[in-house]
Amino acid sequence: MVKCSICKRREAFYVRRYSGERLCRKCFSESIENKVRAVISKYQMFNFNDRIAVAVSGGKDSLNLLHILSKIEKEYPQASLCAITVDEGIGDYRAESIRIASENCEMLGIEHIIVSFKEIYGYTLDEIVKKTRDKGLTPCAYCGVLRRRALNIAAEEASADKIATAHTLDDEIQTFLLNLLHGDTVKAIYSRPKFEREIPDLIPRVKPFCKVLERESALYAYANHIKFQDEPCPYACEAFRNDIRIYLNRLEERHPGVKYTLFRSIERIRRLAAIRSERSPLRPCKICGEPTTDVICQACRILSELKLIRY
Ligand code: SF4
Ligand code: ZN
Ligand code: ZN
Repeated sequence: MVKCSICKRREAFYVRRYSGERLCRKCFSESIENKVRAVISKYQMFNFNDRIAVAVSGGKDSLNLLHILSKIEKEYPQASLCAITVDEGIGDYRAESIRIASENCEMLGIEHIIVSFKEIYGYTLDEIVKKTRDKGLTPCAYCGVLRRRALNIAAEEASADKIATAHTLDDEIQTFLLNLLHGDTVKAIYSRPKFEREIPDLIPRVKPFCKVLERESALYAYANHIKFQDEPCPYACEAFRNDIRIYLNRLEERHPGVKYTLFRSIERIRRLAAIRSERSPLRPCKICGEPTTDVICQACRILSELKLIRY
């Protein structure tokens, strides 16, 4: 039996190649929880009495985050948690993930708030996809911006002080590279683990999972018997992101630890950019107040194309 390098007692079930550690289930789970605690404290993500809205899709990352934050929250009696799931209206796919998210919330005793595109915008994503077939944009392009806004609306109604999303380290570095490869350097540099309240009246967003590898997130769910939906969305079509994911996974396989090195480099670049330009190029959208580099944000543009608002 290969023993765990931390407790030296239990059997190891995972070899963490970037550190050389062999970990048992318990020590592995604690190491992930400690990573989340360290990120929360490094970026000063929460106040002791915050009401935190966790964006829960029903996938492994968001449910892991909910389980871990619910553990941490118990140490702060004045803090409170709620979970928000946005029902985009994607056939049976979303119904299944909502059911799984609700079961997890019930088990943890956390309030579960569900908001839908239908009630906010008057259309499901399925209907929007039909309506916009000839516009040349992918379903994800509509879904991403509309979901972001729906989340803000729900968090506002829930009187949340922070919105926590479960972006992993893989998501963060993929998005950075994707923005660079699209030539969008501003977006690459100004997206951070903690989005400060640079814009009044906007609930700050935090990413406590930004130092957890996607692979280890899957393992955490497995080690802790967390039920999640692992079916991919039927509209998932981000081919460019997928290429970057495959490339980064291949690099990590050959050079363990390279993803963390890239993350640290991105942080340094962002710090340097922040020193050079004191003012963020982001400003509030004229219609909804969301941060944007333009006068009108992307969500409002999409809504006006769908003839749901006018400007
Ligand atoms: Fe929305 Fe695209 Fe994600 Fe499906 S894959 S939930 S369409 S962003
Ligand atoms: Zn151990
Ligand atoms: Zn807007």
